Amino acid sequence: MTERGAAGGNAAATSWLRAGIACRCPRCGRGPLFYGLLRVRPSCEVCGLDLSAQDAGDGPAVFVILFLGLIVVALAAIVEIEYSPPIWVHLMLWTPLILGGSILLLRPFKGVLIALQYRHRLLGAPPRR
Ligand SMILES: [Zn+2]
Repeated sequence: MTERGAAGGNAAATSWLRAGIACRCPRCGRGPLFYGLLRVRPSCEVCGLDLSAQDAGDGPAVFVILFLGLIVVALAAIVEIEYSPPIWVHLMLWTPLILGGSILLLRPFKGVLIALQYRHRLLGAPPRR
């Protein structure tokens, strides 16, 4: 596959998944995707891809909740079964993991969903009649 991006980069070499996880433009893989924590740039500053049509919505939060929830519940169950600690130990262990993990995972999950929108031609598609 020798698909070329608008910036002259090799789009096949730019994995949409790698670009999404790195929070980079899904077309060129170089331009930053976000302002600040989660605000998406209107366009890529490297290749000019219009990102204003992206609509990740609540998708990243849902996937973070499901993914992190599975991990935390599994770990909490293992700790409870093996050590049966008091409830404050669970609170001290899992509250920072949930809060920190949610903040850390939201950007890459949103980046991947935006990259999937690009991959399936939902970004920049002409309006439906
Ligand atoms: Zn770009």
